[in-house]
Amino acid sequence: MTKNKESDVFQNLTCIECGAAGCVNLHLEDFARFNCTSCGGDYTKESVIDLLNLWQAVFEFTAAAEKKTIDS
Ligand SMILES: [Zn+2]
Repeated sequence: MTKNKESDVFQNLTCIECGAAGCVNLHLEDFARFNCTSCGGDYTKESVIDLLNLWQAVFEFTAAAEKKTIDS
């Protein structure tokens, strides 16, 4: 059985609203929007980027805290 590479990348995603795995789909009429078949969530690429930015801020905090621990 052959698998579609494009659909495989979506299988590893978890929904940013309910956390369900493998339920995120791309809106076929708008490639910057996603929807979740588990919770019915509907969100934009920007919402996902906002979430990633929150994590980025956490990583910067932990990197700085780690450096402080090593330096002291
Ligand atoms: Zn969901």
